[in-house]
Amino acid sequence: MKAVVYEGPRNVSVKNMPDAKIEKPTDVLVKITTTNICGSDLHMYEGRTDMETGRILGHENLGVVVETGSAVERVKKGDCVCMPFNIACGFCKNCEKGLTGFCLTTNPGTAGAAYGFSGMGPYSGGQAEYLRVPFGDFNCLQLPPDAEEKENDYVLLSDIFPTGYHATVLAGVEPGDSVAIYGAGPVGLMAALSAQLKGASKVMVIDSHPDRLRLAEKLGAIPVDDSDGSSVEQILKLTGGEGADRGCECVGYQCSCHGREVPNLTMNNLVKAVRPTGGIGMVGVFVARDPGSPDDLAKNGVLALDFGQLWMKGQHIATGQANVKAYNRKLRDLIAAGKVRPSQIISHELPLDRAPEGYRHFDARTEGWTKVVLKAAA
Ligand code: NAD
Ligand code: ZN
Repeated sequence: MKAVVYEGPRNVSVKNMPDAKIEKPTDVLVKITTTNICGSDLHMYEGRTDMETGRILGHENLGVVVETGSAVERVKKGDCVCMPFNIACGFCKNCEKGLTGFCLTTNPGTAGAAYGFSGMGPYSGGQAEYLRVPFGDFNCLQLPPDAEEKENDYVLLSDIFPTGYHATVLAGVEPGDSVAIYGAGPVGLMAALSAQLKGASKVMVIDSHPDRLRLAEKLGAIPVDDSDGSSVEQILKLTGGEGADRGCECVGYQCSCHGREVPNLTMNNLVKAVRPTGGIGMVGVFVARDPGSPDDLAKNGVLALDFGQLWMKGQHIATGQANVKAYNRKLRDLIAAGKVRPSQIISHELPLDRAPEGYRHFDARTEGWTKVVLKAAA
């Protein structure tokens, strides 16, 4: 099968790889039709993780079931399905509570597995013609009859839409809240959409890319341009000096200022911009070790957080991978009902063969390249 393979920093190729196949009775084999490039892929693409070369990337996958293992009961051949990026068992202590991002079975020794992802188990990614889905009954979300027509909406259920939603859950967004979201990448934009779904009265999205800020505005948020570093003052002004009720971190450890990485920037801005007793939800990825960081503390995964101010303000912070399965069914139903159209942030639809070009532009944040989906079916 054709697949997108990680060859080293800023180098991916599309090549022939052994076909994915059923390996266990609980597996499902999916013929991929749409698979996305994610901001999380960029950490690997840039060589900022310990991703091994030769692995197939891709954790945002949708397709059609072509084969089911002998122990699969619910999912049927021909079903159109979208897979959470998390690979979860459904029966461990965490999965039982809905915390599928921290499954204790699928990546032994740690918590949480994913397709084609550094540090999250040996699983191949879905930027390929076929994908093996472990625990298929648990991990496949079946899609309604309009699956083909709304494929670009449904494929966002694999990660960024539920992840944006998770950011608002971690922050504790309630109806009427004001919400400050750092990052107008795909995840930040989905957090903005989710905050509106949850009834926020005011959503502010902070970034320095005008094209991404325009999309935030289109989604009903107030764009806050941080090119001059004044985002905190702008948020305080927009909230009558009080600060936002809730904050979402949707950038991660490679957050920057004028092209220079400053890993503690967004979190310390949020501590300043969120009101006393407000909540901060962190879905941007932070890592335990980052040898490639220009920051000495960050090389060991340490962040210089304004902890005194956080404590004095009585704020709470909640973190981690999104538990996609906790939300994907309800968000699917909102798409089916025509109440949300997350695909409006997709800028490029490319055939799988053109993945290297997609990676290059999305990584460079080339103007207009907000979200790239790859069409795998020939
Ligand atoms: P992205 O890289 O496209 O978007 C990040 C955005 O942040 C960019 O638009 C960039 O200009 C902006 N940014 C950089 N520095 C900033 C700063 N100092 N202030 C404000 N904005 C700044 O990526 P994405 O796909 O939107 O993903 C965002 C983060 O979420 C990544 O770290 C990704 O790995 C992570 N992620 C986490 C989960 C999860 O489950 N927790 C899931 C998906 C993605
Ligand atoms: Zn992703």
